[in-house]
Amino acid sequence: MKKVKQIDTVPASLQPFLKAYPPETRDKRDWNTFKNEEYEAYSELIQALTDIQHGLCAYCEINIIENDYKIEHFHPKSDISSETDWMFEITNLFAACKGGTQTNGAKTRHPDQSRCLPPIKKNRSCGEAKDDNVMDEDILKPSDLPISPALFSITQKPQGGIVNKVKEGALKVNENACLQAGIDPKKVEATIDTFNLNCDRLCLARKTVLEKLEEDFELELADLGENPSDNQIKSVLEKMAKYNLAVNQDGTLPAFFSTIRIYFLPYAESVLAQSPQNGI
Ligand SMILES: [Zn+2]
Repeated sequence: MKKVKQIDTVPASLQPFLKAYPPETRDKRDWNTFKNEEYEAYSELIQALTDIQHGLCAYCEINIIENDYKIEHFHPKSDISSETDWMFEITNLFAACKGGTQTNGAKTRHPDQSRCLPPIKKNRSCGEAKDDNVMDEDILKPSDLPISPALFSITQKPQGGIVNKVKEGALKVNENACLQAGIDPKKVEATIDTFNLNCDRLCLARKTVLEKLEEDFELELADLGENPSDNQIKSVLEKMAKYNLAVNQDGTLPAFFSTIRIYFLPYAESVLAQSPQNGI
């Protein structure tokens, strides 16, 4: 999970619906009515959320694609008892994936294992894992994360390939970063658990990202000849960090952005500090 920005006003196309269904008379069924009958307004809202999140799920950072997206309520939309209209409060809404429950539109499951990996139930993540629980005080809201430092680290293959019982690609709490950011590490741990961010499916997806980076790094190293200097290695890593963390032409960020960022620490931080912060 990374810091995401939020839109500050609801898109104009949502206004007529909110007039017809005002917060004072909010009903649990209103969301389905909105989703099913106001297709255009719904599409515009999810597009605005996806754009500001640079195309990534607010929780797991998979890229949001057709058939695998939803509007996610950080505080459950079923809570209609409070003064806040959680269903349409703009700061409560995020674009997210369907947490590994997605089909490809037909009866068969999506062919991409990072989106759908049996057993489906065990591999449910994001909003699908959090369900309707009120966790506002216990976990991190994506918009409340600091831009820097990254609060997580990732289990990587140990040097020398020693068999490690710890799952590769798993997120861990970076206690030092939490201390620096003034965030309780327990809250970060609870965030990982609540969204099931260390399910096999997501660990595997992060492991694949790490392996690809490692492979690319090895190729770059090979180009440097037999005995590259420390400075040469450093400039390769800087170059790779810049390339791999860049915003794509369509405004999206690469999937599992934080995994890439962590791989390139500390170079990633100087790259991100130099780039306009709209990248993250
Ligand atoms: Zn997700």
